[in-house]
Order: sequence, then structure tokens, then C-alpha cells
Amino acid sequence: MHAARHGAPITGTVPTFSGTVPAPRLGQTLIHEHLFVNVEEPRGPWEHAEWDEDTAIDTAVRELEALAALGVSALMDLTVPGLGRDAGRVARVAARSPVLLMAATGWYSTRPLPSHALEEARERPACDDDPLIDLMIGDLTLGIQGTDVKAAAIKVASDSPDPAPETRHAFVAAVEASRRTGAPILTHSDPATGSSLAQLDLLVRRGVPAARIVVGHCGDTTDVALLAEIASRGAFLGLDRFGMEQVLDDEARVRTLLALLERGLASQIVLSQDAAVFSTATPPSWRAARSPRWRLDSLHRRIIPELERAGVGQDELDQMMVRNPATLLGRA
Ligand SMILES: [Zn+2]
Repeated sequence: MHAARHGAPITGTVPTFSGTVPAPRLGQTLIHEHLFVNVEEPRGPWEHAEWDEDTAIDTAVRELEALAALGVSALMDLTVPGLGRDAGRVARVAARSPVLLMAATGWYSTRPLPSHALEEARERPACDDDPLIDLMIGDLTLGIQGTDVKAAAIKVASDSPDPAPETRHAFVAAVEASRRTGAPILTHSDPATGSSLAQLDLLVRRGVPAARIVVGHCGDTTDVALLAEIASRGAFLGLDRFGMEQVLDDEARVRTLLALLERGLASQIVLSQDAAVFSTATPPSWRAARSPRWRLDSLHRRIIPELERAGVGQDELDQMMVRNPATLLGRA
């Protein structure tokens, strides 16, 4: 089902903040992370007691340098409209980062769509009469927020198996943008509510190949049967919140991953942390007190060594962290 299981060639190219690169150049990739999140999504400067832009940028560069030393070579910033996306700010980090950074389009559709995102879409040559589709396709093919940085993926979010009309609209727009550009769709879901399987059904029913979809936050459940069911449809499972122990502890996350690997599912799993350098929802003081192990380096410093002790081999790790992301992100 997947083209790049063991040794099969990985093809296509991927837009990054440093230009478009051949997919095999990505190397070890964290596919669901954030640099700077602001749930208020202001258009102007951020107002937060703990926010200082220059300091945040320096911190991001330092954390990316540490990741590069641990072997990470690419990172997807899934901060989309609704979460305070600012491509210009991330570009300042990318200019100094040894890790290739990628951007995403879409809409964090459990929150209202910021009106400025649609204004930006209206300033562009229209490809559709739906401004949300124009926004996504413009981001994927022209550039984000007036930069020449193109999005490498589409992100949409649903927390309910029966999403509200505006959430459904975001999914339908994502289908159209993916269909026209070949870009993959990475989601936010809540496996506890049944939204994971429901959103996958919605996307596939409308024509997105399951192999172009990551069902995000699958690692928030220990229901291995449910995850095996999602995998049986051909989608990738996003075990993408290691370290987010305020939702589920890492011990349970690791146990679930090992059970999936035992079922031979390495070719359909991607690993990440959904961490952030700075988020107004969980600012540094909150993280230090409430979830100190939720960091961009959790996988490398704690989880991967634990997997290795449990007998997970380099080939399986490379499958999940190198080949799967490259297969998914490579566009013809
Ligand atoms: Zn996220």
C-alpha cells in the first residue's frame, strides 16, 4: 500500500523554509510540532507576560541546534490559521536553523477562522469561489502570508465524530486542496470521542487516498484495536504527542506503540511530540510546573532509548522517522 516500505525509492519534492528539496533530503523528521502558538491569533504584536519575540526566536534556534545534534534534520511546524501562524517570524528562525523547517496550511477548525486569513486569500488570484480553498491552494502553491514559503502539508482538526458545519467545511476544503496539489493532510483528532475514524472516513469518502493522510493524536489512546482499524484503512497513525503527559503518560504511549509494532505496523506510524517552543495556551511557566517532559527533544532523550531497550531496531525507527515522513511529504 505504501510505496516506500524498506528500500523502495522515495520520490517527489517538499517545500521548506529553505526552498524546495527532494523528499529523501528530509532525513529524520519530526512531523507534528510547533514553534510559536498564539490561540488569540492577533494580527499585530503578541501581548503575553512571558512573550518576548527576540528571546523566543533565540530559544527556538537553540532548541533546533540541540535537535540537530541528536540527529533530527527536518521539522514540520503545524501551526496553521487559528493557532497564530506567522511565516515571517518562523522564517527568522529558519535562517539560523540547522534543521530544515516546513510550514503548513489549513485551519485549526475547532476555533473560529481568523478573518485576516480570508482577507489574505481574497488578495490572491482565485482558483475557486470558496475563499478557504483559495487560502489553502495559495499557501501550497504561491506562498504563505506574503512570503515565498510554500506549505508542505494541510492540517485540519475535529474533536467530534459529528463535527459542526464549519469544521466539516474545513475538511471539504482540505480535500479539494489536497486533490489539486497532491499535498498530504495531517489532522488533529480525539480518539476518545471516535473523531479519528470519522474524520478519516470523511476524507477518504471524498477521494483523498488514505496513504496521504496522517490521523493525528492517535497516541492519546491505548485502544490498540481502534488504531489497528485505522491502519487497516491505509492511513498513517500519528503517535505524535510523546511527552504530553498531562493527557496520557509516556509509559502508556510507549506500551501502545510497542503493541502496534508487534502487529507489523511500522510502515504506517509517524512519531512526534506536538511540543512548542512557546504557546500562549501553555506558556513556559505552565509547562515547567505541569508538564516538564513535554519538549522537542523528548523522543530522542527518553523515548527512543526506551524503545531500543524494548528491542525496537534501527530499521523500524528509520521507517517511522525517516521513510514514512518522506513518503508522505514528497509531492510529484
Ligand atoms: Zn499540534
